[in-house]
Amino acid sequence: MKVLMVSPEAVPYAKTGGLADVAGALVSELVKKKVDTLLVMPFYSTVARHFNPEDTGKSVKIKIGDKTHEGRILRDKHAVFLKCSELYDRAELYGTPEGDYPDNARRFVFLSRGALEAAKALDFKPNIAHCHDWQAALIPLYLKSLYSKDPFFAGTKSVMTIHNLGYQGVFPADLYGITGLGPELFTPEGVEFYGNVNFLKAGLISADMITTVSPTYAREILLPENGFGLDGVLKSRSGSLRGILNGIDETQWDPAKDKSLPSNYWAVDLAGKAACRKKLVSECGLKDGRGGLVASFVGRLSGQKGVDVIIEAAPEILSMGVNLVFLGKGDEAYQKALQEFGRAHEGRVFANIGFDEGFSRLVYAGSDIFLMPSRYEPCGLGQMIALRYGTPPVACRTGGLADTITDYDPYSGKGNGFLFDGASAAGLLQAVKLAVCAFSVPKRRELIIKAGMRAGFTWKKAVLGYTGIYKELSG
Ligand code: ADP
Repeated sequence: MKVLMVSPEAVPYAKTGGLADVAGALVSELVKKKVDTLLVMPFYSTVARHFNPEDTGKSVKIKIGDKTHEGRILRDKHAVFLKCSELYDRAELYGTPEGDYPDNARRFVFLSRGALEAAKALDFKPNIAHCHDWQAALIPLYLKSLYSKDPFFAGTKSVMTIHNLGYQGVFPADLYGITGLGPELFTPEGVEFYGNVNFLKAGLISADMITTVSPTYAREILLPENGFGLDGVLKSRSGSLRGILNGIDETQWDPAKDKSLPSNYWAVDLAGKAACRKKLVSECGLKDGRGGLVASFVGRLSGQKGVDVIIEAAPEILSMGVNLVFLGKGDEAYQKALQEFGRAHEGRVFANIGFDEGFSRLVYAGSDIFLMPSRYEPCGLGQMIALRYGTPPVACRTGGLADTITDYDPYSGKGNGFLFDGASAAGLLQAVKLAVCAFSVPKRRELIIKAGMRAGFTWKKAVLGYTGIYKELSG
C-alpha cells in the first residue's frame, strides 16, 4: 500500500494548528504500520530554518496561468518538500494578522499539481492520495480530470479530509483559470460557489471518500447552520462521509516525561502538577493570594475559538477569584483586545500573544481548568492535551469537544470536564461556576482530573480508521 499524503502543514516541520499535529502523527503511525507513506508539503522558510532536507536532484515545473513555477524536490525521511522561493519563502504559512497572502490560490495550486508531479518524478505510484483541507483539495478533481488518462495514476483513489469546514479556499472567479481545470467544471455542480471558485468543493465533489475529524462534526456539517454553504454538497455525498476522531501523540504530550516542565507527574501522583502551577503563576505574574483557580486558553485567535466569549464573561470569572492566562495568535482585533485586557488586569490576567509551544506546555500543565468556548470545533486537540495534563476543560458541547469531554455529573461524581450548550458568556460562566464548586472539594477535583488523564486519545484507533478506508478503496 502506497499513500501520498498532501498537507499544507505537518509536525515537526511547520505548524499553525491542529492539522499539523494530525498530518504529522498520521504519517508517523502509518510508517510504523509499514504503510509506504510519502508526505508532500511546501518548503516554507520556517522549514528551511530548522531542517536541512536532501536535494533529490529532481524538480517539478508547473504552468499556472501564464507563469511557470519550478519546484525543487527535497526529501527528509518520509517527507518531500517543494522548494519554490517565490511562492513559499514567506514569514508565515498562509498570511499575516492583516490578512491572507494575495497569491494563496496560486501557492496551493502549485502544491496540488506539484504533489502529483513529484510523485511521478520519484516514481511513487500511490494507491491512495490523501488530501488535507482546501490547500490540497484540487487533487481529487485533478485525478478525475487532468490526470484521468494518466496510466501512472490509474489505480489511485482519493481521500479528502476536512479539518475545518470554515476554511474553504474561496477565490474570485477570474482566478479559476490558474487551476488549469476546464470551463465545464465551473458550474454549480462543479467548483463554482456563488460566483466564486471554491477549492474545497473540488475535493468534496470528486474524492472517493471524505472524512472529517470527529463523528459529531461529521453529522453537524450536514446542517445549514454548520455547513458554511457546503451542507448541500456534503449531504449529496453523505454515503461517502466518515468521522474519525483525531488522537494526540501521547509520546509528545506526556506530563510524566515532558522535559519542558519544572516537574513531571502522572495520575497516580499529581504532586508535580503543583510545581508546574507555581512556575506558571510566577511567570505570568499572577497574584495567587486568594488561592482561586487558574483558567487558561491556548489557541488560534479567531472567531471560531470564542475568545471574545471569554472576554465578555471575564469580569464575573475574575470576581469568582479565577485568574486567566491566554496564549494565542491570530486576528489583529483579538490580539489587541487581549493585550489591553491583560494590561488592565495585571496580576489577574496574563496574555501572551504569539505561538510558543514551550509555554503552551507550561500552560496545559500549570493551569487548573482549560477554557474552550468554541463556536464550532471539528475535533480540537487543545482539550485532549489539557485532559492528559490533568487540566479539566470547560468547553462548548460541539463537534469533537462533545466526543472527547464527558460532562461532570455532580450526583455520580463522574466526568472529566464541564460542557455547556451554545458559545455564550452565560453558558461559559455557568460551567466555570460548576467547576469552581466541584474543585472546592479536593476528592472530587482529583477524581475529575484523573478521569481526564486516563481517558486516552491515542492515534492507534484513528489510524485503524484510515487504514480501513484505504483498504476499502483499493480493495
Ligand atoms: P485548530 O483549530 O487551530 O487546529 P486544535 O485545538 O485542533 O485547533 O489544535 C490547536 C493546536 O495548536 C494545539 O496543539 C495547540 O496546543 C496548538 N496551539 C494553538 N495556538 C497556539 C499558540 N499560540 N502557541 C502554541 N501552541 C498553540
